[in-house]
Amino acid sequence: MSLQKANKNKIIYSEETAHLFCPDNDLRGRKFGRLTVVQFAYKRNKNYAYKCICDCGKECVKTRDYLLYDVKSVHRSCGCWRKEEQQKYRLKTYDFRKGTPTHNSWMAMKSRCNNPNNNQYSDYGGRGIRVCERWSTFENFLADMGERPTPKHSIDRIDVNGDYCPENCRWATKEEQNNNKRNCILVTYNGKTQNFKQWCKELNLPYYCAIHMYKSGKRTFPEIIEYYKGK
Ligand SMILES: [Zn+2]
Repeated sequence: MSLQKANKNKIIYSEETAHLFCPDNDLRGRKFGRLTVVQFAYKRNKNYAYKCICDCGKECVKTRDYLLYDVKSVHRSCGCWRKEEQQKYRLKTYDFRKGTPTHNSWMAMKSRCNNPNNNQYSDYGGRGIRVCERWSTFENFLADMGERPTPKHSIDRIDVNGDYCPENCRWATKEEQNNNKRNCILVTYNGKTQNFKQWCKELNLPYYCAIHMYKSGKRTFPEIIEYYKGK
């Protein structure tokens, strides 16, 4: 008679089932999965329970049914086996990243480029901006970009007409990104090119007045600098 059957039906005493009648001793020292039985712990109703020590070093109490029948032998542990498996699974799927700032950015990026129902689609996917093949998995995206540094940061494409790919992207704040907008005015002065706002910041010029002067064509950029020098 198999042990399983013996357990389910009324146990009939025989040589084979003798150990079931002296539960305090029969499992002592035996190993089930990661668990080694230390000693009989208690009997509750028809359940025998044993103090076990796990390979990981933790002590626990498991029932006889658990040790002998309930789960696949390799799965028997203090609980550490299941935890490890879950961890492995999470690492594999990156599911545990869902809802983190970096994951949210990644999702939003894909949506802007791939989902015509996204209200920003016309500025992204709609004008040919794509997410590179490599970044179709979050794992790669994270490896290339790192974690989103602060909530103020978002993905900035250095070439605003370029794709989302490692060479063209960085984390940047709104301010940093505004310096890089499609409609920004680039000015070359003393061999250096940057946008108007950056020049104003660097040279301490009043932006709105200066850009108005520049756009209206009243003064060239060097003339504007000269104009404010005297002020
Ligand atoms: Zn364990």
